[in-house]
Amino acid sequence: MTSAVPWCATCERFLSPPTVTPEGRCPSCGRPVEPGGAHASGDTPERTPRTEGEPAGEEELGPIPLHLKIMGVALVVYLGWRFFQGVEWIIHRF
Ligand SMILES: [Zn+2]
Repeated sequence: MTSAVPWCATCERFLSPPTVTPEGRCPSCGRPVEPGGAHASGDTPERTPRTEGEPAGEEELGPIPLHLKIMGVALVVYLGWRFFQGVEWIIHRF
């Protein structure tokens, strides 16, 4: 974020530090600016809230493709079969 940029709440815009007067006032309206006030009272329209979830990403990750399910089931069956073979091999050793 632009934490070091002065923010004028009256003009609702960021000011480049050289343009701010030595008294710390806005060159446009003359009101005192907040030094580095990125979290000013008025929310900037650029800050679109992303915390409400991204539906596009959820749609991609939500439903599992059928071939992935089949592959997963086949893998589980294969590993189970190999495990069973290993147990049988161990049993026959004794
Ligand atoms: Zn201003």
